[in-house]
Amino acid sequence: MNQPIRTIEDLKGVEAAGLTTLYPDRLKIVVGSASCGLAVGAGAIESAAVAVVKELGLDAEVTRTGCIGFCSQEPLLDLFVPNGPRISYGNMTPEKTRSLLTAYAAKGDLRPDMALGWFTSEEHVLTGEAHTYPPPNKALTEVPEWSSLAFYRNQKKVILRNCGSIDPLSISEAVARGAYRGALRAFAEMTPEKVIEEMTKSGLRGRGGAAFPTGQKWQFARSASGDTKYVVCNADEGEPGSYMDRTVLEGDPHAIIEGMLIGAFAVGAREGFIYVRSEYPLAIDTLQTAINEAEKAGLLGDDILGSGWSFRVRIRVGAGAYICGEETALLESIEGHAGEPRSRPPYPVTDGLWGKPTVVNNVKTWASVAPILTRGADWYAAMGTQRTKGTTVFSLEGAVKNAGLVEVPFGFSLREMIYEIGGGIVGDRPLKALQAGGAARGCIPPSMLDLAIDTEDRPGETVMIGTGGIIVLDDGACTADMARHLVGFFLEESCGKCVPCREGLRQLSGIMDRICAGEGHEADLLLLERLAGTMKAAAVCGLGGMAPSAVLATLQHFRAEFEKHIHDKSCPAGVCRGLTM
Ligand code: SF4
Repeated sequence: MNQPIRTIEDLKGVEAAGLTTLYPDRLKIVVGSASCGLAVGAGAIESAAVAVVKELGLDAEVTRTGCIGFCSQEPLLDLFVPNGPRISYGNMTPEKTRSLLTAYAAKGDLRPDMALGWFTSEEHVLTGEAHTYPPPNKALTEVPEWSSLAFYRNQKKVILRNCGSIDPLSISEAVARGAYRGALRAFAEMTPEKVIEEMTKSGLRGRGGAAFPTGQKWQFARSASGDTKYVVCNADEGEPGSYMDRTVLEGDPHAIIEGMLIGAFAVGAREGFIYVRSEYPLAIDTLQTAINEAEKAGLLGDDILGSGWSFRVRIRVGAGAYICGEETALLESIEGHAGEPRSRPPYPVTDGLWGKPTVVNNVKTWASVAPILTRGADWYAAMGTQRTKGTTVFSLEGAVKNAGLVEVPFGFSLREMIYEIGGGIVGDRPLKALQAGGAARGCIPPSMLDLAIDTEDRPGETVMIGTGGIIVLDDGACTADMARHLVGFFLEESCGKCVPCREGLRQLSGIMDRICAGEGHEADLLLLERLAGTMKAAAVCGLGGMAPSAVLATLQHFRAEFEKHIHDKSCPAGVCRGLTM
């Protein structure tokens, strides 16, 4: 890119370049190379593809994309066939890659026996347009269309709009699917107040767990006095079993950068930070490349889009402490201090980084911003529930057939999530419990499956889904043991600053160890409840206040199983060591 982008015409020039690599007129071989794919051999698949292309002299390019969501089918390889569709192949190996490409080179054979699905079109969510693929030849008639697969049929991709479709290192491919049009609209057509009004009207709430209305948060920061303000992306994803944020960072970094750019314009910030944990090295590298590309394109830096506005984004790498996901601990860490929470109030919107007004939003929240400006607040608000508009992303893990990343509108039921998208329980065993919405939520029973997913618990109607991690447990799991593990996790992650949390968790952990070892007493259950009450009332931050819920919520729904451990000295699931005979 030689010239900075200033106008819609400039953006269209970049878009044209991106379309030629997104949908080329020669064979494109794409390997899903997010962390989930790489962990199961995507690197070897890519090497095999490169070698075969060279050996056979195929007119083809081999590229990478992020996670398309279907993690249980990784490694995934897609063929973009010239004058034909995009076809996905799951559970690939180097041998299968060689076999597929050799068959294609010999007689155009697309190996339908190996194919997972083919695409008729791909929606460009930011523009509302779509790229339509030519239909497949007869040989693919037995292969399902991608969007008809149970895993995808009911999903609605907004946050994950480009993951698994673009090369995350290519800004032109992101632009080809509509990136930075929202920013251009904000800078060219809107005032900061109008942007905040649009956010408020959309009903977007924070996706990090607290679900605070985003427009309201931005308004507080805009109204706060002072010229120096900051925006921060909380990418310190630490919930067990959660990797939604990592996938967006690795698969579509410009979605976050653009969201932050729009947010900075709205609140009046000239500087932003993305706080990422060190366990996400691929995300950090991908983000840094994207920031460099955006600077080269004039989308970060000085005089952005010819507006006279300056904004810069820097990455801060955290050491991986769970508590740094708490926004004030995160701010402390960015400032170079130990990651310990601050007492609130005051809140970061008035006293944030270095005491200046600061908006902290989660990865999924920032990634939701641009579509609201390009498609409009009404479009966004048409999805979701009365309280919570739009979509969110879940990592569906554990004893479920189709594990992976799932994006659906709020209001979706857990039953649809587990039995339709997830395909049911592995081995068709009975579902015992879900650990849903974060470690502090504990385990919930199958009787809650028909509740709608939302950002608050309304008895008999909705279930609060927190950050979006869902771990499915079959009848081979022990809920007391699960609660013991969760308490152990919080004990490990407590920063130790305040006594109720530091000592309370030690006590909770000791009680759960006793119960699971068959040494518990009836009084332990009462002690658990009293300890939890003290911790909730006296802990400085949400970790200590919420951690006891991991046990209490589980105890509420699975008391009989706890009592078996205490009274019968037995573990019905046969999990707890010492009680399995
Ligand atoms: Fe640290 Fe726990 Fe106190 Fe929070 S509640 S400040 S994590 S010790």
